[in-house]
This record gives sequence, structure tokens and C-alpha cells, in this order.
Amino acid sequence: MRKRLLLIGGGHAHLFVLETLRNRKPHWCNHLDVTLLSRDLHTPYSGMLPGLIAGHYRSKQCHVDLLPLSARADVKLIQTTVDGLDPVRNVAMADGQEWPFDIVSIDIGSAPPLSAVPGASAHVVSPRPVEQFLHQWRALQKQIDSLARPIHLVVVGGGAGGVEIVLAMAHRLGARRDRVKWSLVTDGELLPGYPRRAARLMARHLADAGVALRIDTAVARVEAGKLHFADGSAAAFDAVVWATGAAPQPWIAASGLACVDHGFVSINRHLQSASHPHVFAAGDIATDPQYRWPKAGVFAVRQGPVLADNLLRYASGRSLSGYRPQNGYLSLISTGGQHAIASWYGLVWEGRWVWRWKDRIDQRFMRRFSEPFPAVETQSAEDSPRM
Ligand SMILES: Cc1cc2nc3c(=O)[nH]c(=O)nc-3n(C[C@H](O)[C@H](O)[C@H](O)COP(=O)(O)OP(=O)(O)OC[C@H]3O[C@@H](n4cnc5c(N)ncnc54)[C@H](O)[C@@H]3O)c2cc1C
Repeated sequence: MRKRLLLIGGGHAHLFVLETLRNRKPHWCNHLDVTLLSRDLHTPYSGMLPGLIAGHYRSKQCHVDLLPLSARADVKLIQTTVDGLDPVRNVAMADGQEWPFDIVSIDIGSAPPLSAVPGASAHVVSPRPVEQFLHQWRALQKQIDSLARPIHLVVVGGGAGGVEIVLAMAHRLGARRDRVKWSLVTDGELLPGYPRRAARLMARHLADAGVALRIDTAVARVEAGKLHFADGSAAAFDAVVWATGAAPQPWIAASGLACVDHGFVSINRHLQSASHPHVFAAGDIATDPQYRWPKAGVFAVRQGPVLADNLLRYASGRSLSGYRPQNGYLSLISTGGQHAIASWYGLVWEGRWVWRWKDRIDQRFMRRFSEPFPAVETQSAEDSPRM
């Protein structure tokens, strides 16, 4: 009997699933029907986002088009947002429709935890979803030009994402960046988890770009135009970009799947749900309680080939392979211009050559998933699912 494999989200790991399905078509086509439900038809490649904000890349260069990838893999692609899952009845819910499955794989990413701080959801800008963020960033640039006074732009979050965003924005504005008062606020140290030398170098780049750094400062509450800090102080702002941590979508916890950390899918070493063996998850939305690797695209990318292999193995009743996260990884953090800081197992380098190195890695990733393909038609969510 044919089985139905449902992929939810076109995230980094699922790109590898599509690639594997294309490469191994003769082996699965006779016994599997595969459908991909994704909110977006273009997956932003995380490594190149700061370069896109800074103006080094055009949008098309940093987005993987899911349409040709799915078509080449004989996967039915539907653009829709999933907002529920019943792993017992084997259905996913999207826009009021039910999508039945025998096996499901979830790779929907994460977003900053805005609900953790009162007022944040209403008054700050989130870098996720990326398309919405880019739209808001374009609007902000117009605002900068239209106001007679300098505006105060605050980025909250001192991890790699926060520093890359503030430096990319400052670079993009060029000479106009003097029309902005820049702040980076973080509740701990700068670049936690990175070697101290990397943090020192980054602090210097922030200072050179005119960004005022406030460490050990937790935001307690946000109201229109004002940030209130845990130490009782406050600061007025015109715009706040919230680049802290990762939170799951609420429907995951509501589904009854075993979860950890308030709603991330708890997975085993096979990238399989700890409670429902026919459910797989990878990327930011999945957490293996034994390892707890960082929520970074590099892990989603490494999980991709294992996930792809295991989905096909599970569908044909074979034993599953294990994913072992690497202990350390090469981290390349851009500093606004075509310059970056690299850290690898405690070693730190910086320079324009580091940025060129990062650029080569990123472009190679994009080339891998950017082969042209004859135009095909997508379906809308109104189309009936196959039963
Ligand atoms: C500014 C910034 C810079 C970053 N830089 C780096 C970096 O240099 N290196 C690095 O390793 N990480 C970086 N990250 C982190 C990285 O972006 C994430 O870890 C990575 O994108 C997670 O990949 P994923 O596969 O889990 O999901 P994603 O790649 O986020 O993809 C999620 C997919 O699911 C779809 N989707 C979401 N919700 C639904 C739904 N309900 N229904 C259907 N489809 C849905 C989306 O449309 C998208 O296709 C950065 C993050 C930010 C914000």
C-alpha cells in the first residue's frame, strides 16, 4: 500500500530531503506520495541574511526557491500555514483543512520569544518571518529620511544574530547612519558562548559603527516608544528589533507530541519524536534533550541528510541511522561591511578574507539548491488534499 509522507515547513533540513528524494526517485516513487506544506515558497538562507540587510546580496541570491526543488523531486508543494497537528489521528491542520499522513516531518524553524516580555509582541520588530522583517526594514529606512531629527534604533540580543543585524543595518545606511542613534542591549555578555577574543573584537566593531552597547541589561517591559529595564531604568526608542533566542510555534505543544523547553519537539538520535515514532522533526523546532545543540542553521543543515535517509528508511521498515551533533563548529559572523570574524574551537580570526571565505561557503550552499527547472504550477490551499 502507498504511504503518505507529509513535510511541514520548507526549512534548511527539508531542502536536503527534497534533494535526496530527487536523487533516489526510483527507490521510493512506487510506494510513497510526498507533499510539502510551506508558509513560504522561498526559504531564506540564514547565513546570507545579514549580507542581504547590509546590501551585499539581492533577495533572490539568498532565497532557495522551493518550487523547482519540489517539482524535480516529484513532491507536491502547497503554500499554506499549518496551525495544528493530531499525531494520533495522523492529520495536520492548515487554514481549516485536514492533511492526512502516515509519516510526518516537521522543519518550521523558530522565532524570537516575544511573548516572554510584556508589550514586546505589540511594539517590537522580529527578524522572523524574514519577509516581514525586510518589509519593515525598508519602511524604517524611509522613516529615517523623512524625520528631521535622528531616530533611536535599538537591537535587543547580544548573540551572533543581534550583532550581525545591527552592524548590517548601520552599514546599509552608509553616511546616513549618523541620522540614527544605535543601541545594542543584551541581558548577559556580548556573544555568549564565543571565545572572549571574538567578543572583544566585536565590541570594537560595534564602537566603530557608533553602536552603544549595554550588557547585563534585561528588558522587563516594552510600551509604545519606551523600553523599561529590569534595573528600573528606561530608554525612549523609535524602533526596536528583537533578536533574542528561539521560541516554538504554540501548536506544537498543543499537539500532544512529547515536548521540551515549553514546546520544542523532543526527538531521539534518529530525529524521531520521543512519543510518536511516525513523527520526525529537525532544525530549530527539534530538541534532543541529551545534547541541546544551539538553534542555528548549521545544525539544521547537518541534520538534513540524516533526516532524509531516515524518512525513507522508516517508510520501508528499515532500521534508522543516528545523528550525532558536532562538538564545535566553524562560526563566521559578519561585521557589516565585507569583513567577518571566524571562531573555531577557541581560535579566532578576522578580516576581509574571512568574509570572502564565508561568502564562498554560502554561495556554494545556494548553488547546490538553485538548479533551474521548467516552470510548474503551485497549488493553493483551496485544492483538496489527496486522501
Ligand atoms: C539575522 C539572523 C542571522 C542568522 N545567521 C545565522 C548564521 O549565520 N548561521 C546559522 O547557522 N544560523 C543563523 N541564524 C539562525 C538560523 O536562521 C536558524 O537556525 C535556521 O533558519 C533554522 O532553520 P530551520 O530549518 O529550523 O527552519 P527555517 O530555515 O527557519 O525554515 C522554516 C520554514 O518553515 C516554514 N514554516 C514556518 N512555519 C510554518 C507553518 N506553521 N506551516 C508551514 N510552514 C511553516 C517557513 O516558511 C520556512 O520555509 C540566523 C538567524 C537570524 C534571525
